[in-house]
Amino acid sequence: MAHWAFGGASGETAGASRVDLHTHSSCSDGSLAPVELVRRAAGCGIRALSITDHDTMDGVGAALGAAAQLPPECGFVFLPGVEISAAYGGGGNRNGGRGKSGSNSGGSGAGRWGGGAGPPRREIHILGYFLPQGGESLAPFIEMMKRERTARNLRIIGRLNALGVRVSAEDAEAEAKKSVFGRPHIAAALVKKGYARDMNGAFERYLAFGGRAYAPKESPTPAECVAAIHEAGGVAAIAHPMRSGLRQRELKALIAELAPHGLSGIEAYYADNTPQDTANCVAIASAFGLIMTGGSDFHGEYRKNVRLGSGRGNLRVPDELPDILIERLQRMRRP
Ligand SMILES: [Zn+2]
Ligand SMILES: [Zn+2]
Repeated sequence: MAHWAFGGASGETAGASRVDLHTHSSCSDGSLAPVELVRRAAGCGIRALSITDHDTMDGVGAALGAAAQLPPECGFVFLPGVEISAAYGGGGNRNGGRGKSGSNSGGSGAGRWGGGAGPPRREIHILGYFLPQGGESLAPFIEMMKRERTARNLRIIGRLNALGVRVSAEDAEAEAKKSVFGRPHIAAALVKKGYARDMNGAFERYLAFGGRAYAPKESPTPAECVAAIHEAGGVAAIAHPMRSGLRQRELKALIAELAPHGLSGIEAYYADNTPQDTANCVAIASAFGLIMTGGSDFHGEYRKNVRLGSGRGNLRVPDELPDILIERLQRMRRP
């Protein structure tokens, strides 16, 4: 079963993780290009890496190419991944645009997901993991998310402009370089133009929930994300349950709700976890028969105190998790 091995790896710091299954590249809100991220990971002793950009798998091709160029003795494995944002509770959808014609840039994403009304209690992230050729059938779902993200960004820019803040989509695009821009890039443009002291200030004043230019995003429910990943032949896992503010009871209820849709795992190892958080996640995974995943949520320069593999210095992702994940994928695909 184990078709990637650590046996030959040497000269690495004892205790540092050699697995990081949660990282972001410049294709979403990380600072490193996928190729750089793969090289950096290999250079610091990581032997199994996944890039899990928000709502996009655009970096997968380049990352696979970079991984293929590493010396075979590295035993480096790249697992294509994605992290999808879902809205949980209150009907799964905080979009005010449904009932307001014209508020959604031609309605590109309107009304496709979820149901019900009222604000959701929180945002839940769902990780999806795929073998190299496994991501294609998720493309229409990802495409829909991308359209909604763009429409939402334009709503935010519109609100900023209405407040007299002179920032354009082009300004944010310039900050994002080649990727689809998002709120961090709008924040960077606001800072550059002197409308905010720093990124935090830009979010607080304008972009965060409650900010003057905040615009809600229409999001799928966790169940819709899990089902889409599962149907595409991937492994779906709940990302950083503690960071999402899920208490034990809520997490168990969410798992019970998502299991019939094809939930396979939970991110038990995470940079922000306390030892108790991790122990709780491990216990829950075992109780529900879920596999465990783990990673740093590395964003490069955009989250300076989180390092690849080691997170805030206390992350230790067990070596065997990628094998278990790959085995689960193979078992799911067996007829
Ligand atoms: Zn996340
Ligand atoms: Zn993340």
